Amino acid sequence: LTTLLAHLPPSSTYFSLEFFPPKTQAGFTNLQARLARMTTAFRPLFVTVTWGAGGSTATKSLELAEICQRQLGVPTVLHLTCTNMNQKLIDEALDECRSAGIRNILALRGDPPREEYKDPVTESSPKQIQAKEEEFVWAIDLIQYIRKKHGNYFCIGVAGYPEGHADESHPEAGKQSVEHDLPYLAQKTKAGADFIMTQLTYDADAYRAYEHRLRNYVDTEKNEKIFRDIPIIPGLMPIQSYQIIKRITKLSHAKLPQDIAARIEAVKNDDDAVKKVGVDILSEIVEKIRAMPQPDDLPRGLHFYTLNLEKSVAFILEKCHLLPSANEPDTSSSEDSDTPSEE
Ligand code: FAD
Repeated sequence: LTTLLAHLPPSSTYFSLEFFPPKTQAGFTNLQARLARMTTAFRPLFVTVTWGAGGSTATKSLELAEICQRQLGVPTVLHLTCTNMNQKLIDEALDECRSAGIRNILALRGDPPREEYKDPVTESSPKQIQAKEEEFVWAIDLIQYIRKKHGNYFCIGVAGYPEGHADESHPEAGKQSVEHDLPYLAQKTKAGADFIMTQLTYDADAYRAYEHRLRNYVDTEKNEKIFRDIPIIPGLMPIQSYQIIKRITKLSHAKLPQDIAARIEAVKNDDDAVKKVGVDILSEIVEKIRAMPQPDDLPRGLHFYTLNLEKSVAFILEKCHLLPSANEPDTSSSEDSDTPSEE
């Protein structure tokens, strides 16, 4: 990725698309066709493929990532979590990436299974992860391991949280502040992270403040602005339905600014209208982010959490003039199938 980014014109905008592996074979086949359409028509700089914590989707994630990289020829980033993953599973995943030509990993901790959070007495309050029993506890453990085992073969990305981190493993709070996370983000960067990809946000002001804070953050050990030049790619999720936006913002602790919430509330019983308003909202956020200053004309990245859906992203890209001019996306097909679903 870093090589790709180095070749982009200064001040240009690029975008990436995230996909998750469907559970069923039929879903997988559908997604393959959709992926081919989307990558051909939209030409993202890269795609990313999610990973189920603990390796629950390992085979399917690797299969999907290989299809993206090999068959579709799109640079692919494999998300890889490390909690509840032993070294053997990590090794297998990284070896498979190498043989599939995948050179980019988004190194994550992952969320431990829910039952691990439960206090045995109250059955409800979260407790801290037991470090000693696990080989990999934090994302930094994975980064250090990849660098030790594979040198600079992989370009490594890490997660950033513009509105803080909804960390249920934290003993006291379900949410950690940006301030709390920054030293750990700095550690991950010093351990070898090449780029930061963020949790989804609908709050352009919060994102602006976050980016500004990162760019100016002085690492106490190195006494330098450690995030000054690193690519920071904001995560954006098109609004597919009222229910989904409610659930996702709750899970991620992303705030819906009042004006945005009011626009969605006003049409909440009409799914098509929600999607339409959602396209407007996301396009406005994209334009606000594009207008934010970048150091040294760094290209501006945008990451779309697609939920495997095509249309809303297509409309947003079109509205923001981010589609390649010669190729219009085929948004007329699969009208009925482009509804939020697992597959
Ligand atoms: P870490 O960097 O380990 O941080 C976790 C928390 O602990 C943070 O609050 C941090 O401040 C704190 N912390 C870090 N190091 C230490 C330390 N040494 N001591 C004490 N506290 C520490 N999850 C999936 O399961 N699959 C995916 O595909 C996936 N993709 C994602 C993509 C993006 C862009 C993002 C933003 C998140 C994604 N996640 C995914 C969610 C992620 O796994 C969770 O948010 C997880 O809870 C934290 O992961 P992390 O890599 O940020 O962890």
